[in-house]
Amino acid sequence: MADYKCEPTKWVEMSQPVDGGRDTYQTKSWHPPKENWGPFTTSGTAPVWFAEANATNWTESMICKAKDLFYEAKLNECFDKGDEVAIKIHYGEWNRTAILRPEYIAAIVEEVKACGGNPYVVNDTTLSYHIFNSMAYSHYQKAGATRHGYTDATFGCPVVVADGFAGEDDYRVDIPDGLILKETYIGRAVAEADAMIVLAHARGHAITMYGGALKQLGIGCQSKRGKYITHLAHWGDPHDAIGWPKFTDQCPGKACKFHQMCDDSCPRGAHHVVEHGKVWDPSKCRLCYSCQVTCIFSGMTGITFEENYFPNAMIAHADAALGALKCFEKGKVGYINHAIDVVPECDCFPWAGLAICADVGLFAGKDLVAVEMATLDAIDKMAISPGSVAEEKGCKPGDDKFQMVNGFSPRITMAAAEKIGLGGQKYELINYEPVLSPESAARWQVRGAGGEKGKATTLRLRETFHRNDLATEVQPFRRTDYNKEWVFSEWKKYDPFSK
Ligand code: SF4
Ligand code: SF4
Repeated sequence: MADYKCEPTKWVEMSQPVDGGRDTYQTKSWHPPKENWGPFTTSGTAPVWFAEANATNWTESMICKAKDLFYEAKLNECFDKGDEVAIKIHYGEWNRTAILRPEYIAAIVEEVKACGGNPYVVNDTTLSYHIFNSMAYSHYQKAGATRHGYTDATFGCPVVVADGFAGEDDYRVDIPDGLILKETYIGRAVAEADAMIVLAHARGHAITMYGGALKQLGIGCQSKRGKYITHLAHWGDPHDAIGWPKFTDQCPGKACKFHQMCDDSCPRGAHHVVEHGKVWDPSKCRLCYSCQVTCIFSGMTGITFEENYFPNAMIAHADAALGALKCFEKGKVGYINHAIDVVPECDCFPWAGLAICADVGLFAGKDLVAVEMATLDAIDKMAISPGSVAEEKGCKPGDDKFQMVNGFSPRITMAAAEKIGLGGQKYELINYEPVLSPESAARWQVRGAGGEKGKATTLRLRETFHRNDLATEVQPFRRTDYNKEWVFSEWKKYDPFSK
């Protein structure tokens, strides 16, 4: 920054604390009446089923193993016939590539339907986060989801945005047991579901350090209002507030080539660039991250976060996860973590860094914290991927990878989550390996081929060929003088490794 003249950001003094009319709004808000909520396991170790990310035959396809785990972990018992079952996923930012492949979601939708549930896939809108965010509006978010292949057609069920056009459709949930938050807001399509299956992409996160199933509840199920609260956006006096943007003295003002983008990044017009710095009006700011992230994504250093913000936000998002879980009766929520494409950042980033380790596999269970701990421990054991940020930071197998890559240990969140009753950190890992047999090979094939519901493709072809023998009717086809010499040696001329 030596070439720039920078002046500290000027603050507009707040005349009084902001009152947005909370009490008036809350009289219209609703509190889900589910009293019998609770973690599946209340003491001792919780079972977590694991299937490794590798395959050498039909039964070991990750899709087949995901379906097997759905039943092994008894996620089929999370709902009754006729229940409305929310399938919670992350729709992924525009231009994001490290997301769950649509097949993983379709596979579970198929089994929920096969068991008599009525599935629909959900995600909530987000805050703005940065100037080009596609997830703050439902129609932008759906456009991105469609581009990722997340459609009614690919999943075989409706794909909805849980909290309405811009995030206004939600219910308040009281969380008196929260460590920081005492209330939050959950998207209506989540809060009104009878049951929920959470399909999480396990990877890093810039704010919560790691994002898996708990983050799907603690951020993903939160409506826009819920996300503002979970991000600690309304945090008292801005001059010492942990949740507000932290302005450094590194902003060169109009000399910054991104200054117009920076001004445009605030959905509330709370700041503007001046000749050698910025002016900020905290009475307008609601901590949406847009200015911070736009500055950081631009490679500039004019705005950042208060260091202690992160662990506070991590604990707050455990509280918010409790709010989401309280919308369901006990045992009505199941989880599958997909530790695949374990990249350093969230699916809300408009790009994807290199994975920090190879694919690990799938983790399934009904105890949220146990599933998360099993996933984290397994990721930490993995070798470091060459060229990744984990290698750059000197990470070794066994280290807490997300702490080294993103700054704090995700175990902070898990300890808080255990404390407020989201589940237990102790788990028993059950290694699931499918046995190859004629029955298991046929089990998850297309149109029930080989099983009770369908015929093997080859038997269908036998019938087709009987009517119209595509295999032989072009015989003899024209070819070169194709002899043994060609078959055993001529082809080697095309093999660069042949001697
Ligand atoms: S000033 Fe506040 S409201 Fe505006 S972009 Fe920054 S964080 Fe968001
Ligand atoms: S992007 Fe950052 S450095 Fe550039 S004008 Fe904005 S705050 Fe200043």
